[in-house]
Amino acid sequence: MKPETILQQLSNLYSPPKSFLRWKTSLDLTVATILSAQCTDERVNMVTKELFKKCRTAQDYCDLSQREFEKLIRPCGTFRVKSKHIKKLCKILINEYKGKVPRTMEELIELPGVGRKTAAIILYAGFGKLEGIAVDTHVMRLSQRMGLSTHSTPEKIEKDLMKIIPKKDWGRFNTLMISHGRAVCTARDRKCHKCVFKGECPGVLRKS
Ligand code: SF4
Repeated sequence: MKPETILQQLSNLYSPPKSFLRWKTSLDLTVATILSAQCTDERVNMVTKELFKKCRTAQDYCDLSQREFEKLIRPCGTFRVKSKHIKKLCKILINEYKGKVPRTMEELIELPGVGRKTAAIILYAGFGKLEGIAVDTHVMRLSQRMGLSTHSTPEKIEKDLMKIIPKKDWGRFNTLMISHGRAVCTARDRKCHKCVFKGECPGVLRKS
């Protein structure tokens, strides 16, 4: 399948936001993206509604007791690890970046709890920068089904995608694929009969 066709068709179908998470500042976005690992965006948005009222700055996260923080983010799952990562990250932001979120892939992936996927989301949604393609579970599944990559790790899939997707489209490619992955090409029950790609997608030929 041609990447240009995929992008065109998906753009006709969906007008997704830059991020499905609710946030106001780059720090909010960073925290929300870390919390979203193995959790739905809806649940993260529910949790951050309260959390962001208490925490506006990196110092606010450091001042929050571990216990209170864990209680607040518990519904997001793996809350002990996530709370430790966020607190450590905020300390680094204060000590090394004057409390601000850095703006390069190299700096972001050095932060606790931030991998390439999280960094790509922060850079695109927060700063309008394109330094990678965020490969989450939807992007991974759809890329494999559509024959855009034969790999099974996010790192390798991202490399394949970066070769075929025009750089200007790296950011919206992620949100368009997520939209299609949620609406039609779902993990358990892909609705190929309703899909705009049914005539050309290699995945339609395979049994789920
Ligand atoms: S045709 Fe089926 S497998 Fe291919 S993108 Fe559409 S829903 Fe997914």
